[in-house]
Amino acid sequence: MESALDPHAALALLEWQVELGVTEAIGDAPVDRYALADTAPRLDRAAVVASTAPAVPQKAPAMDPVQEARKAAASATALPSLRQALAEFDDCELKKGARNLVFADGMPGSRVMIIGEAPGRDEDREGRPFVGRAGQLLDRMLAAIGLDRQKNVYITNVLPWRPPQNRDPLPLEIGMMKPFLERHVALAQPQVLVLMGNISCDAVLGKRGITRLRGQWTQAMNLPVMPMFHPAYLLRQPQMKRQAWADLLELKAKLREQ
Ligand code: URA
Repeated sequence: MESALDPHAALALLEWQVELGVTEAIGDAPVDRYALADTAPRLDRAAVVASTAPAVPQKAPAMDPVQEARKAAASATALPSLRQALAEFDDCELKKGARNLVFADGMPGSRVMIIGEAPGRDEDREGRPFVGRAGQLLDRMLAAIGLDRQKNVYITNVLPWRPPQNRDPLPLEIGMMKPFLERHVALAQPQVLVLMGNISCDAVLGKRGITRLRGQWTQAMNLPVMPMFHPAYLLRQPQMKRQAWADLLELKAKLREQ
């Protein structure tokens, strides 16, 4: 191939290339790299990042706490194993602030099962439901119709851990604990449920409005259910004890029928 360069110009060019660092010839004809730019294989940046990035530990997919509660509750085949399942359940934040798990008190297998709201300070300290002032009033109410937690009543709460400052349970907490409550009722096998106050009505009946609901038999969890004023409310509003007495007589009559 004829060169268009004279020997002096060719030598000057070669010297200039050597100055630039060229050490060997890789082709006979020059290559216009700019013209090649469009045909060069494109970098797949995502693939490069993926292949060179350090492996990041993958987070386990978030578990649905209600689903977890259902699984844990369903695995319990008797009251002691339900208690154990609750003790091992870590998804409810209330557990962290509570001193004790408050599972139940009274006689398992009783015809009457009472469902309260949540432990207060005294219950949290003792690990038993209804042991404070409201609990003492409850015992007197039950005694008035021949019931006694040592003999023929079983007692639990919607929540097994005390909410901070005795605040009302949140809907999330009630929903999370409901599978345990349902299992608790199924395993305790009462004939009648008594719901103390609005939170228990919310958890079991899905509605509140204790002033309207109290004293009327209804049905839930395949059982007759009697909503009543909570004893703590009766301590604050003693004039409502008349209605509570009427509701207790309803309960007594139901137990005679059955
Ligand atoms: N109030 C409740 O509802 N439950 C208890 O255990 C104590 C007070």
